[in-house]
Amino acid sequence: MIIAIDGPAGAGKSTVAREVALALGFAYINTGAMYRAVALEARAQKLDPQTNEAAITEIGRTLPMRFGAGGTRLFVGDRDVSEAIMAPDMGEAASKVAGLPRLRSEVVARQHEMGKVAERECGGAVLEGRDIQTVVFPDAQLKIFLTATDEARAQRRIDQWKQKGHAFDAERALLDVRERDARDASRDASPLRPADDAVYLLSDGLTAGQVIERIVNLARERMSQ
Ligand code: C5P
Repeated sequence: MIIAIDGPAGAGKSTVAREVALALGFAYINTGAMYRAVALEARAQKLDPQTNEAAITEIGRTLPMRFGAGGTRLFVGDRDVSEAIMAPDMGEAASKVAGLPRLRSEVVARQHEMGKVAERECGGAVLEGRDIQTVVFPDAQLKIFLTATDEARAQRRIDQWKQKGHAFDAERALLDVRERDARDASRDASPLRPADDAVYLLSDGLTAGQVIERIVNLARERMSQ
């Protein structure tokens, strides 16, 4: 079974996807982390997304990315980049490389393959991102579009940055989610949007536990059909 969870920045997708995967014994694949890792490498090579699409596409095709610790860590070769890719400026950097169509098709192919391998090895995968239900796995058995108000999403980002000891500013957090959503939803290549058959979940006023339970129940219903 493939469960596709998409939605805007800061909607709580990562926590929810990770816990849903754990509850069902499935693999958890954080596709945003992969765009972030490509952006980190592009930055290290001083490549500008506006002028270096070919070189960044090559990074997307070849970067040795591997998830560990139940999908919660990302390694590039032997290097654990999990902290580096979550620095406050990396969301924006990832969103810029993610607008490149050729880079996307390389990364999407790798994500599709990872999902297929996980399905064979552990019976299923929960993938979270922006285009899982529309592009990576349009035939996923369960498609969730998870969202929340801009303010709730900005607050979630602030809490995450605080926890990790990053400097932050509340206004900047709100601007970051709004700008990133506008870019992700208006780009030509796989814009953020729900699939026609998606279950739409607004997480405001719900605890993470309630959202997780709802999705796990839906998954169990679909599996028994
Ligand atoms: O989910 P996360 O905030 O880590 O994603 C970082 C950026 O990567 C997003 O703003 C988006 O531009 C891009 N992304 C994407 N497609 C995905 C996952 C992430 O375009 N499937």
